[in-house]
Amino acid sequence: MTRVEDKHLIEQKPRVRLDPIPKGYRAVDERLEDYEECAICLTAEEAMAEASRCLHCPDPATCYQACPIGNDISEALWYVEKGDFIKAAEIYRKTNPLPEICGRVCPSETTCASNCVLSKREKPINTRGIEAFVADYQRRHGGVPLPEKEPPTGKKVAIIGAGPAGIAASEVLAVKGHDVTVFEAYPTPGGLLVYGIPSFKLDKSLIQWKTDWLQDLGVKFVVNVKVGETISLDDLIEQEGFDAVFLGTGAGVEATMRIPGIDLGRIYQSIDFLIRGGNVPKAWLPEHKKEPLIIGKRVAVIGGGDTATDCLRTSLRLHAEKVTCYYRRTEAEMPGNKDERKRAIEEGAEIVYLSAPVEFLDRDEDGNVDAMVMIRMELGEPDESGRRRPVPVEGSEYEVEVDDVVLAIGFWPDPLLGETTPDLETQKWGLFKINQWTNETSREGIFAGGDAITGPALVNAAIASGKKAAEGIHKYLTEPSLP
Ligand SMILES: Cc1cc2nc3c(=O)[nH]c(=O)nc-3n(C[C@H](O)[C@H](O)[C@H](O)COP(=O)(O)OP(=O)(O)OC[C@H]3O[C@@H](n4cnc5c(N)ncnc54)[C@H](O)[C@@H]3O)c2cc1C
Repeated sequence: MTRVEDKHLIEQKPRVRLDPIPKGYRAVDERLEDYEECAICLTAEEAMAEASRCLHCPDPATCYQACPIGNDISEALWYVEKGDFIKAAEIYRKTNPLPEICGRVCPSETTCASNCVLSKREKPINTRGIEAFVADYQRRHGGVPLPEKEPPTGKKVAIIGAGPAGIAASEVLAVKGHDVTVFEAYPTPGGLLVYGIPSFKLDKSLIQWKTDWLQDLGVKFVVNVKVGETISLDDLIEQEGFDAVFLGTGAGVEATMRIPGIDLGRIYQSIDFLIRGGNVPKAWLPEHKKEPLIIGKRVAVIGGGDTATDCLRTSLRLHAEKVTCYYRRTEAEMPGNKDERKRAIEEGAEIVYLSAPVEFLDRDEDGNVDAMVMIRMELGEPDESGRRRPVPVEGSEYEVEVDDVVLAIGFWPDPLLGETTPDLETQKWGLFKINQWTNETSREGIFAGGDAITGPALVNAAIASGKKAAEGIHKYLTEPSLP
């Protein structure tokens, strides 16, 4: 057998000819009846066969370069091919604290898979499916051992926000011997992994498992505490004695529309719709979100990203009959994951491009929306995002009848901490200003990462930035600063 170090000596030609293992999804009728994951996990045989297609490009492989977390994908695939799934899982866990999550939600078609050399001629390796398979395998076969911790440093670190950025930072810091406490505003840790991404994309028990594992590692979780409201950031530092803080507070404030009728009933913000719409166990919901959502037959979702797609698919699971996405640009400019959009269409959602609402109507005057005035758009010059700007076509208004409307048009960070913490500087959209090398904010000892510094992004980017900030915090706490 070729040794790992010699894997570049393998013959590539026969591998190029191997057929890819098709990705599996549950039948549409079956998956619309529940909120279980839609994707079917690879079997051991399938994972091995898929991994054996890897050409093991010379280091650094393009897939590795494209992974924001720096997973050594080629090395892991080598062990998967040989059937050593535990070793492969260990390789992923060396760099990624959440491989079972990334293996389910990473948009690999824009990162590792799109950079796989096989994507030029054949289908790229299903890197995401393999990562999920080996991480699941390890949990189920002996579990994930706790890493050896460095001796206690006597330093206390507060992590604000238990999303992927906070989770990643907490693990790195706990392993380095710091005393870590995570403060979370919601009743359970996870951030958007719990209170955003639907359970048909991501089994929420995986986050519960990770939280338990972190607690075994010594990380403390304090939930239902909104820092800046329940306790100020300065009180955490001065009264509770935290030596450093990580802000992983995400971008949880939803954008709305300034058009007539926006305040009518049955016009929902996306997160409210997703979490009350069956994707989160009731026990994990805050009191004011526990009332289940009862929706009508016709649902309109406004927006074109992943969140919009998730709302379409949730509406279908709530048994809406006509579920339509209205997007103001064309498919070419749509920011969301194509694969997920395909699943939504398969499940019965429709997409209307180049259309946006200009007014919500309440014709029967019961306080709830029952129709929308829409306007058609055409594309103009590119805007600052580089995408062509939608321009309303004069006189093209038309009306659409609806029972419920969901707004999925964007997010920005909560200004609370910036407003309640002296000298903590924010910039455009309320993002925390940071030192690009260390992730330290304008306040010494306070670091930030994830969506709170980039705006709405991805789980892999939040993990990478939580890890980077944790390294910055460790350095701050252990290395004397230069005079
Ligand atoms: C509907 C939806 C679907 C998505 N789907 C995908 C996907 O398929 N793949 C993908 O890669 N990405 C997806 N994303 C994006 C991804 O979820 C985020 O980029 C990622 O979760 C950001 O991580 P974070 O840790 O920075 O913030 P978050 O996950 O938002 O976590 C921040 C946490 O901080 C808490 N918090 C905020 N303020 C305070 C405070 N003052 N005190 C205490 N706690 C506070 C919040 O309650 C929250 O729990 C999706 C996002 C949404 C909304």
